[in-house]
Amino acid sequence: MFGKDSYSHDMKNIDPKKEQLYELCQKNGIGIDVMKAFAGGDLLDDKLSPAGKALTVIQCLGYALTRPAVSSVMCGSKSIEELRQVLKFETATDEEKDYAAALASFPKISWTGHCMYCGHCAPCPVKIDVATVTKFLNLAKSSEDIPETVKQHYMSLEHKASECIKCGQCEKRCPFGVAIRQNMEKAVNIFGS
Ligand code: SF4
Ligand code: SF4
Repeated sequence: MFGKDSYSHDMKNIDPKKEQLYELCQKNGIGIDVMKAFAGGDLLDDKLSPAGKALTVIQCLGYALTRPAVSSVMCGSKSIEELRQVLKFETATDEEKDYAAALASFPKISWTGHCMYCGHCAPCPVKIDVATVTKFLNLAKSSEDIPETVKQHYMSLEHKASECIKCGQCEKRCPFGVAIRQNMEKAVNIFGS
């Protein structure tokens, strides 16, 4: 997402090639080890950040670990102090790990309309896990045939998109302006439930 090749100009949404890679790995059950989660430190500095605004170490790790297929992040540290900052992730609160508000306020990168799987749309009155449904929807949309594993995972959800009562509460809470009700309809069309 933040590779130097991809941030020489203002961006809208995730780099499509990297998104395809994440989705391909998720569909095939291949774990990704992330390196350069801080873009060599640039993401931690307002002036150097490609997004025009810094994130914290914990927000960078929280974002990386919630991408599809990501199983681990390998962090380089130049000093004991840097290592300590990384290890604080283990005891960080959900609020400290939350990257959504920071990402939504980036001046140079917009994720408008793109689900970041942050979970801010919860709670849904009929208990649909919108972030997970949307993740499966995006995985299915990126394939000509829906992978059997994706379909099985979707069908094992306790609450399916077909239960959506279109109340719109989730959309009011989404920091990225995602058309969640439309996505629920698309999920029903694709998965049949
Ligand atoms: S619009 Fe649908 S998904 Fe969103 S909160 Fe209401 S019932 Fe849940
Ligand atoms: S729909 Fe919006 S709030 Fe919900 S997980 Fe996606 S980006 Fe986050």
